[in-house]
Amino acid sequence: MRSGELGFWWRSIGGPPPRRPSLAGSAQADVAIVGAGFTGLWTAYYLKRAQPHLRIVVLERETAGFGASGRNGGWVSGFFSGPGRVYARRGGNAGVRRLRRAMIDTVGEIVDVLNEHAIDADLVHNGQLSVAVNSAQLQRLREEIAAARVEGLDEGDLRELSSSELSARVSVDGALGASFSPHVARAHPAKLLLGLARVVEEMGVEIYESTFVREIRPREAITDAGIVHARWVVRATEGYTSSLRGLRRMLVPMNSSMVVTEPLDPSVWEQIGWQSSELLSDAAHVYVYLQRTADGRIAIGGRGVPYRYGSRDDGTGATAASTVRSLHHQLAAMFPALRGIGLEHAWSGVLGVPRDWCVSVDADPSSGLAWAGGYVGEGVAAANLAARTLRDLILGAPTELTSLPWVGRRPRRWEPEPLRWAAIHGVYALYRQADRLERDGARPSRLGSLVDTLSGRH
Ligand SMILES: Cc1cc2nc3c(=O)[nH]c(=O)nc-3n(C[C@H](O)[C@H](O)[C@H](O)COP(=O)(O)OP(=O)(O)OC[C@H]3O[C@@H](n4cnc5c(N)ncnc54)[C@H](O)[C@@H]3O)c2cc1C
Repeated sequence: MRSGELGFWWRSIGGPPPRRPSLAGSAQADVAIVGAGFTGLWTAYYLKRAQPHLRIVVLERETAGFGASGRNGGWVSGFFSGPGRVYARRGGNAGVRRLRRAMIDTVGEIVDVLNEHAIDADLVHNGQLSVAVNSAQLQRLREEIAAARVEGLDEGDLRELSSSELSARVSVDGALGASFSPHVARAHPAKLLLGLARVVEEMGVEIYESTFVREIRPREAITDAGIVHARWVVRATEGYTSSLRGLRRMLVPMNSSMVVTEPLDPSVWEQIGWQSSELLSDAAHVYVYLQRTADGRIAIGGRGVPYRYGSRDDGTGATAASTVRSLHHQLAAMFPALRGIGLEHAWSGVLGVPRDWCVSVDADPSSGLAWAGGYVGEGVAAANLAARTLRDLILGAPTELTSLPWVGRRPRRWEPEPLRWAAIHGVYALYRQADRLERDGARPSRLGSLVDTLSGRH
């Protein structure tokens, strides 16, 4: 089994393309974007589309798609992270409802753009199943559905499925029921990233790789090769933000790890079902997320080593043997037919987590500084909505998007070390304990709710 190497998605298409040139010296641009993941590339796409004459340069320290955008679970999700009450502080309940609707519409927007530019990313828009494997999880799913109703989602957006309705779709061992939403699509992340990078380059956007930005200042991105002077500098560095001067405690790089099986025999698929390739998760506090890949494997992800001291990232994503074992075990618990299945690849990546677990998007005309991120584990589609919002903010035209309640938020910074390390590891140790308690209990554990409150995660 391979480990790291940027993960299975890139390997399955022969790796990232040959490195693009790095920045050769100082330069002038209208917009400099730091980071070539989904946030950076979607921002370049929508700006260039709105104003083709703009000179847009993207500065990437490794290769386009090196970060979470090339390594994720491929859930193009119409949901976003963070508790609604935090967004409601800026936009009230009406603002939260608008954000929910805008995110749901974003899945359709991505499908349309991919079709328009003939980007083949193995997309299947058949929704998401969140499966309860004990009664505590079932109760939590019901509470989530009730909360979603208050935030404007109806039966057509998110609903409960009985265990027999679920097993008609997929056969998960011990499942008591599930929630279902149609607003999630499956994608091959590296194909999506590659296609988007091709399109923005065809539009005239310049992508410089192996170009590390040390510092972002008003209207300047400082690299070792020189300074890029620009009217706007967009920070799109997510889980790597702490490498920028002055931003060490802005977002923590939280780990997520994945493994992928060998292709499954048709007879195994017959036992499992899952013919419509919905995205699949359980409803644990430390949950797992799965996709059926286009080439007939299962990719499953979850939290490995949650965080590295001092906000270090994990390079090309080599993954601890204990994490691989744990994911293998959870896969076999859901699908006993997979007990002896071979795993072909394990990898990890970092996502960006703000102190209040909520996304922020902003652009300040007085300094020319703009940014978007803090998506936690739901950034694939959210980066698209954030990018369209950045376009409108940068072009200075107030729109529906610029009044969404994630605009203009300034979450407080994370605690300094060693508090930060201790708090994050403590939170995940307690969540794991809450999951263990819920295996035997009938109701959601009080420990889980307590940790939700203390951490601010829900
Ligand atoms: C294993 C895993 C599974 C996930 N699964 C899902 C999922 O299924 N669905 C979902 O919605 N979300 C998922 N996420 C989260 C999602 O992938 C991210 O939220 C999203 O890709 C963030 O995109 P981004 O462009 O903001 O950041 P990234 O993709 O991380 O891109 C940031 C880029 O900035 C570059 N960079 C950083 N610092 C500098 C610098 N100083 N100078 C120059 N360049 C720099 C990095 O090299 C990187 O390429 C997952 C994340 C992980 C790690």
